[in-house]
This record gives sequence, structure tokens and C-alpha cells, in this order.
Amino acid sequence: MKNLREIIAEAEKKKVAIGHFNVSELAAFRAVTKAARDLGVPVIIGTSEGERDFIDIHDAVAMVRDLREKHGQPVFLNADHTHSIEKVKEAVEAGYDAILFDGAALPFEENIQKTREVVTYVKKMAPQILVEAEIGNIGSGSTIRKELPHGAAINPEDLTTPEEAVRFVKGTEIDLLAPAVGNIHGMFANAPEPALDNQRIKLIREALRQAQGKPVPLVLHGASGNTDEELKTAITAGISIIHISTEIRVAWRKGVEKSLEEKPDEVTPYKLLSGAENKIYEIVLARLKLFSGR
Ligand SMILES: [Zn+2]
Repeated sequence: MKNLREIIAEAEKKKVAIGHFNVSELAAFRAVTKAARDLGVPVIIGTSEGERDFIDIHDAVAMVRDLREKHGQPVFLNADHTHSIEKVKEAVEAGYDAILFDGAALPFEENIQKTREVVTYVKKMAPQILVEAEIGNIGSGSTIRKELPHGAAINPEDLTTPEEAVRFVKGTEIDLLAPAVGNIHGMFANAPEPALDNQRIKLIREALRQAQGKPVPLVLHGASGNTDEELKTAITAGISIIHISTEIRVAWRKGVEKSLEEKPDEVTPYKLLSGAENKIYEIVLARLKLFSGR
């Protein structure tokens, strides 16, 4: 089976994107992997530090490997938003396919230096693992928002510039870059998402290709709440991986609420959680169709 690096290169060639969905328990894991299987597309499962503590880092690896090795399904595991070298080491030792080291809250130069340390460590221990890093402030947490997170970059002067992207990638040698291009973590309760700067995505991609002599795949975080049209345009502009988390969390809760309402006397967990699984499946299937151009 192709590894994640090859899967991403293939997506770039086809001008499609790979979906990255966060899970912390079995119902969401089953829903995401079933949707990808039914559609016949690769998928990335993301677990943040909190999510992997809950689902168990080794269990997450075992479940993904089971699908991959026994059933031939291209499913990959990303250690999403990892904040310390200790947590990076845990993910490397557990057997993750990719790691996002998130030093976005650090001053730019310090982010470069810390990320560089992570890349050096990971490439020494397990060169096949992809390392991603994030620059710019796009807020943190997959939550329903009433207002913009403090200091979030939505004004053009705060977004990632092609020069910053090149300097960051040259200084760190990361495999994947998550820039700030108008995207915000979480989802707005009663307002549209801030606009994505597609022209900027194009310029960053082109600048990186020239500087590195090869494409550096770009990752769009915080895509929950963005419309189909917005995400389609972002993929055309050069986004290769799209992160969806808050939509999964909202679907999980709505699904459980609906089950509890419809079956007030039910106590069987799988009968109640199937409501969440079904709701998540619908969302993931629709998002994957869009990302893969099916
Ligand atoms: Zn993220």
C-alpha cells in the first residue's frame, strides 16, 4: 500500500484534497473510516493531545493498522496539535504516520527553532513520519464560537506571507505547512466563517515550490463551517489536506441527543451511540465527496 507521503503526492497531482477528521472515541472512528471506505478514498484520522489521551494512543494506532494491514484501507493517523517534544516522542514511539508540532503561539524565530528540533528528532527515529507545523494565529480549540478568538489573524497584514512560509520551511525542513490564510479553528454559531484568502494560498504554494524545488503540501485547519464552494476554491488554489473537527463534535452531540430523545428508556450504549455514528457518517461522506471531486 502507498504510504501517506505518496498518497498526498497523488492528491496533489489529481488536484484533490485529503480529508482529516478528529476523533476521540469509537463511534466517530467507525463513522469516518466507513465513509472513506464506502467512497474508496484515503483518509487521515486526527487525534489532538486530549483526544489521544482519551482514545488511548496505542489503541488508535492498533485500530488504524488493523484497517490498513488486514483490510487494505488507506487510513492514516496524525498526532494533531502536539505542543511538546515529550508528546512528539510518544506519537513517534506509538507508530503515528504524521505529527503536527504546533508552535504557532511562540514568536516566529522560536517556532522555527523548536520545530527544527522536532524535525531532527523525528527524521532520526522514523524518517517515514511526516512532520507538519503551523504558523500564524488561527485560534485554538474545536468549539462553537460567538466571537473571533483573541488575536486571531483575519486581517491581510496578519496572515502568512509567502516570504514567511519560505523562511519557515527552509529553517525547519518540515514536510507539510499549515499557514494562516483566513481560516479559524472552531465554528461560528450565527455568522459565516471569515473569508479564505485563495490568492494567498496560490502565492504561498508557488513560492515554496520555487524555493524548495518541489511542492510543499499545504494543510487547511479549522475548515468546519466553511461552505462547499469556499473549500473547493481553496483546493484549486493549492490546499492538499483539510481539517474538520468541530463539525464532527457537533454531529456527535446532536446524534446522541436525538437517540436519547427517541429512546428515553434505552440503556444499551451501542444503540444510543449509533445515532452519533450515523450523523458523523453523513457529514464525513459529504465532505469527502467534495474534497475528492467525486
Ligand atoms: Zn488544527
